[in-house]
Amino acid sequence: MKKKNINILIADDESLIRMDLKEILEENGYNVIGEAKNGNEVLAFCQKTLPDLLILDIKMPEKDGLETLKELSMSSDYPKIPVIMVTAFSQPELIEQAVGLGVFAYIIKPIKESELLPAIDITIARANEMSFIQKEVGKLKETLEIRKLVEKAKGMIMKNESLTESEAFRMIQKLSMDTRKPMKELAEEIIGNYTKL
Ligand SMILES: [Mg+2]
Repeated sequence: MKKKNINILIADDESLIRMDLKEILEENGYNVIGEAKNGNEVLAFCQKTLPDLLILDIKMPEKDGLETLKELSMSSDYPKIPVIMVTAFSQPELIEQAVGLGVFAYIIKPIKESELLPAIDITIARANEMSFIQKEVGKLKETLEIRKLVEKAKGMIMKNESLTESEAFRMIQKLSMDTRKPMKELAEEIIGNYTKL
């Protein structure tokens, strides 16, 4: 049973834990696309292939989980990868740091299937939510930018053609319909033309 083709990278320095994790994940329909035993291996893997989810042990030699998380979240080379942190025992200050770095969920060893699976569900759901919100914010910014341009173009028409605000706006609307150009492009052209004068 494949679970929506979710590709997971496992990072833990203990091979037994990686084996355990892999088994639980695959039994539950997830794809384990890679295993790493330290942060350097995680970063090297992510440069080639981006997992849908990273299960990341905090305590690892060479480069630990928090260090790895910092590098992942600070570098634009890695688009936001959802991460579940794994810790050997309850370490509130480490968990706090991990949450500060954008971790959605954490689990405490020994890893139990009954804790891991809901943590995956939560993380995937929150990551989807985040990317949806980011897209909406992007659209909103675009809309605001268009409004600003149209306002500016309108002001220039009013001044140069001695038109009222609504006349100037109707002129832009009509031009947009006649030329089939989007408002943004048209407003930029109007601004450009009056600026040249
Ligand atoms: Mg460890």
